[in-house]
Amino acid sequence: VRRHATYLLQRAIYAGLVGLTLGILAGTGEGLHLVLTSHGLDRRPVLVVYSLLVDGVAGLLLGALAGLIWHGVVWVRERLGPPPPSRALQPARRNASPPSPAVQVTLIWRSLDPVPAHQPAISRRAALRLGFAVASAGALGLGTLALSSRSQRPTTGANTAYAFAQASGDPATSASASAASAPASASPAATAAPTAAAAPKPNVLLVTLDTLRADQLGSYGHPYMKTPALDALASQGARFDLHLIQEPQTNPSHASMFTGMYPASNHVRVHMVDKLPGDLETLATLFSRAGYATAALYSWMSFDPQYCGFDRGFHIYQNVSGQTAGVLDAPGLKQVAALYRIAEQYLALPKAISDRAGVQENLQWSAKGHADMTTDSAITQLQMLAGQPFFLWLHYFDPHYPYVPPAPYDTQYDPNYSGKLTFGMDTITAIEQGSIKPGPDDTKRLMSLYQGAITFMDGQLGRLFSALDSLGLTNTTIVAVTGDHGEAFGEHSHLVEGPDFFHPHDLYNTEQRVPLLLRYPGQIKPGIAVKAPTQAIDIFPTLLQLAGLPVPSQSQASSLLPLLSGEDSGAARVAYSAMQDYVFTSVSVPGWKLVRNNVDGSSELYDLDGDPGETRDASAAHPNLARQLEAKAQSWMKAVGIG
Ligand SMILES: [Zn+2]
Repeated sequence: VRRHATYLLQRAIYAGLVGLTLGILAGTGEGLHLVLTSHGLDRRPVLVVYSLLVDGVAGLLLGALAGLIWHGVVWVRERLGPPPPSRALQPARRNASPPSPAVQVTLIWRSLDPVPAHQPAISRRAALRLGFAVASAGALGLGTLALSSRSQRPTTGANTAYAFAQASGDPATSASASAASAPASASPAATAAPTAAAAPKPNVLLVTLDTLRADQLGSYGHPYMKTPALDALASQGARFDLHLIQEPQTNPSHASMFTGMYPASNHVRVHMVDKLPGDLETLATLFSRAGYATAALYSWMSFDPQYCGFDRGFHIYQNVSGQTAGVLDAPGLKQVAALYRIAEQYLALPKAISDRAGVQENLQWSAKGHADMTTDSAITQLQMLAGQPFFLWLHYFDPHYPYVPPAPYDTQYDPNYSGKLTFGMDTITAIEQGSIKPGPDDTKRLMSLYQGAITFMDGQLGRLFSALDSLGLTNTTIVAVTGDHGEAFGEHSHLVEGPDFFHPHDLYNTEQRVPLLLRYPGQIKPGIAVKAPTQAIDIFPTLLQLAGLPVPSQSQASSLLPLLSGEDSGAARVAYSAMQDYVFTSVSVPGWKLVRNNVDGSSELYDLDGDPGETRDASAAHPNLARQLEAKAQSWMKAVGIG
């Protein structure tokens, strides 16, 4: 039995090594192909290493498995079948005619294991093979190390606040006033804001509501949706009616708000893969350097630092979903998962495995945060932050699929659905993949769950704003509430990538238009509504200016304050968006929007006032305007490096 076990192990190791070599060869091919064919992708050198590692490991595992199965078959044949394979080979060797291919393979296979059963020592040939494998693995490891240290250099030590946040240990327990003010006194940049020292600093609360379409709020004209908390906020401050995001995807959209830069410029374009470059300022680094306590509470794992690098500048940076599966919560495993995510994005083999297994998908969606928990954490955080100037970013995830509002919100908007769909992740995936085409009733039910999640979240936001009141923070806190992108429910059939459900599939306003509500009592007049197009990136200079801080030169945005004071009529405002893969680009001006198909160079023009659903191409009726916007789109793409 021991001899068989050793034999089995040897076979598995040899086969694994053959698999590893094949995997490395495949990975090299795939990596080189990526580097040679991809344009505008970051992390190119790293990708080659990923492909080597991922394909190599996959080859190793598959090879070992093949070896085990092979030996199992041989063993069973030896036991059961006369003649056993060893005897069966003898006549083949003596025959003048060449052996059959199967026998040849068996011969080669057997020749790989020249160790006689009585000799336990490893043979010279096996030692050579092992040495080769170890040397390859070593070279691979060294290469990875060299590349990763090079790509991380700008991140570490680029910012004193980051160094502090790293040194302060568990971010959840470091929320003290002294801790928060430490980096400000240590940094010379704190004195660079002349107005900040003179007047007391206002607090800044930025709330991002994932996947929230503007047209779903009562204050944005929805006929029956119940969103009293957000509607009250709108009446207490400014409402931006045509606020457009830069890319309909969570991480890129947030990165654009945090940096005031388009995704093509700040290099956070691929969700959960691209990390924020270490040399860019963010709202967090700037507020932290100006002496603010900075905190982030988010409700989904895509903001874990391994997937985005957004933690820089935040003293407290916490995932408050409370449901992240243990396997996704260990820091080491998170790093592995983040690497896997990159491999899955770019490499064929991991993508194929992931599409079939869907394991990561299910784990991810089980880790979804809910507004009641997010608000509980937020209120506790506010109590800890009160008494010092703070910048708090809160992220709510409820309207993102799978839509799982608690009762009674799950049946609030469509109590009588009698169809068969369950609307869990299986339904979502099937719709995404096109294997289910929801009928009108299904779509209505799907949307009603989305709407229920919004109303549930709105109630929790009401609780948050009340807490702000009872802590006496309302008048000293700038509140900005916005969405990171919208959600499609089958409204469009062309200029769409895949079925027009969920996101990110198109640049119609279903996915591109989100609410933006801005409240700062005494500074922003209540009840203002801005009609001009504004952009997600504009939040960056606006919050800095409202807090009396200078706007760094990296900003590609326009402050919203001149629109509020009436200095800027908004007539010249323009908003640009692009898909992650740059297949579509859109340009919006007051009343009009042009969506360009960059693959075939065609475009469509929409009259946003006369046709808010963007259903009719108006370019034939307005050729001059279409030409102007086409030129605008092209010069913007050139400026940010698209195309
Ligand atoms: Zn999102």
